[in-house]
Amino acid sequence: MNKLTKTVVIVGGGIAGWLTAGRLAAKHKSNTEQGLKVILIESANIPAVGVGEGTWPTMRSTLKALGISETDFIRECDASFKQGAKFAKWFDGTEDDFYYHPLVLPQGFGKTDLAAHWLAKQAQPTQNNEPINSFSNDVCFQEAICERGLAPKTIRHAEFADVANYAYHLDSVKFGLFLQKHCQKKLGITHIIDDVIAINSADNDTTGNNAEKGDIISVSTQNHGDITGELFVDCTGFSSLLLGKHYQVPFKKCDDILFIDTALAVQVPYNSEDSPIASHTISTGQQAGWIWDIGLQHRRGVGYVYSSKHSTEAEARAVLADYVGDKFSSLNVRKIPIISGHREIFWQNNCVAVGLSAGFLEPLEASALVMVELAAQMISEQLPASRVVMDIVAKRFNETALYRWDRIIDFLKLHYILSERTEPFWTDNRDAKTIPQSLQDLMTEWQYRAPADHDFTSNNEVFPAASYQYVLYGMGFKSDYCHTPYTLDDREFANSQFMKNKVLIDKALSSLPNNRELLGKIKTYGFSRI
Ligand SMILES: Cc1cc2nc3c(=O)[nH]c(=O)nc-3n(C[C@H](O)[C@H](O)[C@H](O)COP(=O)(O)OP(=O)(O)OC[C@H]3O[C@@H](n4cnc5c(N)ncnc54)[C@H](O)[C@@H]3O)c2cc1C
Repeated sequence: MNKLTKTVVIVGGGIAGWLTAGRLAAKHKSNTEQGLKVILIESANIPAVGVGEGTWPTMRSTLKALGISETDFIRECDASFKQGAKFAKWFDGTEDDFYYHPLVLPQGFGKTDLAAHWLAKQAQPTQNNEPINSFSNDVCFQEAICERGLAPKTIRHAEFADVANYAYHLDSVKFGLFLQKHCQKKLGITHIIDDVIAINSADNDTTGNNAEKGDIISVSTQNHGDITGELFVDCTGFSSLLLGKHYQVPFKKCDDILFIDTALAVQVPYNSEDSPIASHTISTGQQAGWIWDIGLQHRRGVGYVYSSKHSTEAEARAVLADYVGDKFSSLNVRKIPIISGHREIFWQNNCVAVGLSAGFLEPLEASALVMVELAAQMISEQLPASRVVMDIVAKRFNETALYRWDRIIDFLKLHYILSERTEPFWTDNRDAKTIPQSLQDLMTEWQYRAPADHDFTSNNEVFPAASYQYVLYGMGFKSDYCHTPYTLDDREFANSQFMKNKVLIDKALSSLPNNRELLGKIKTYGFSRI
């Protein structure tokens, strides 16, 4: 039947629910008479997961698309700037072992293979015992900014403009409430606080709706009756009420590749009001996993994600306590189980899952919210006008999402396989049986050249080739260009890019404020609005 899509029902009021609702409502003018009706149903009894503090630069365009002011967002969500991730103790676990995955592309990326030139420089003896620079520091000016705790812009920049590409760290509970307020006030979303207790499908339809066999016609709520719509979005978190429980779409685990299955999370107060705020996520390798450390305006979010096959909970608590220091004994530790994997498909009939209901992988590289943003954007831009086109959109959505999950799994695994740490967690991670063939194939190619955009088939990759370069060469990998020496023919241009990077570093270091200083100014004055 060719029913027009007039109402979208979103079940779940976590960040996935509100971001999807906001994207749909903003694009389809839900605050007007003729606009799409967007209904969001949220249980008062089942709390949102309430973690997830690292984002991708995509969040800037998402906020803009929702009509959100960056100043308001930073003020109300305890947000700070994130300019990438510093991976400490991932290679050999020593004190000076670290590398950066910044958010700025290597200088001249796409114009020259700067990685090849950098590798050639490393192969030559240094003059006067000059220290060897890291890959990211030689090709990108952002590591230097992060190492000095500087912000990616100044107060004179407009909202969302930058000197260095950036994302945010945010308080996810505050962000959820902020999105809710904005979506209700400005975007015309109908908010129902109630429990969904049944899903009603066309198989037992007595309403005369003539929906496609198996389509959801309505969801029954405890106190608000049946809520009908043409498209249903499952944002119910790990419970995956619609896609997982109702449609029984199987969950594809990937714990044979990514071993992390438990998180212990704490909120750590700063030592003083003017303690520095790191402008990057710090991910520190530990014996059975890694610790994230995220600096917000008023506290840090810290958590140990580990493999319970390689550590007991008591051992994990001791590792976290050691990292946090004296304050640990007074903190409330939240334990969150993680099942790494995703649904086999994400859009079934007239139901699509977004967020944790679709899947979750360990929070390394903060890939969850970016997947929510990409899904919400695609659903809003390709919203099927009627039931006749829905299966076509669903097929494309499923293929795109599946491709992204696979690429993210490969990229996360890449962080582990070059480590020389000797604890069983790390040696098990290097076992070829646990490395996807797709990644093994790429690693074979990259022995001869650096990762390049054409290694990936989507024009909308979550992690571009540059990200793979930062991790590979940060972890000491060497691509050997001896069979393609002509790659280095544009030496002069490459040298000019290395020089340009040095100039950019000097300029950034002399002009950017520190992270806390800028956040303070935003609170007092705000950015100029665009
Ligand atoms: C340890 C950990 C660290 C993370 N770190 C990051 C990070 O750094 N960066 C990142 O991008 N992501 C991170 N994530 C993921 C991130 O937290 C989630 O992707 C994000 O919060 C979205 O969650 P959600 O909205 O899908 O689910 P939830 O927040 O769980 O929301 C589910 C919603 O569904 C509602 N609901 C459930 N059942 C019903 C029902 N029957 N009726 C009505 N409503 C119902 C609930 O009330 C709730 O509102 C992390 C996750 C974990 C576990």
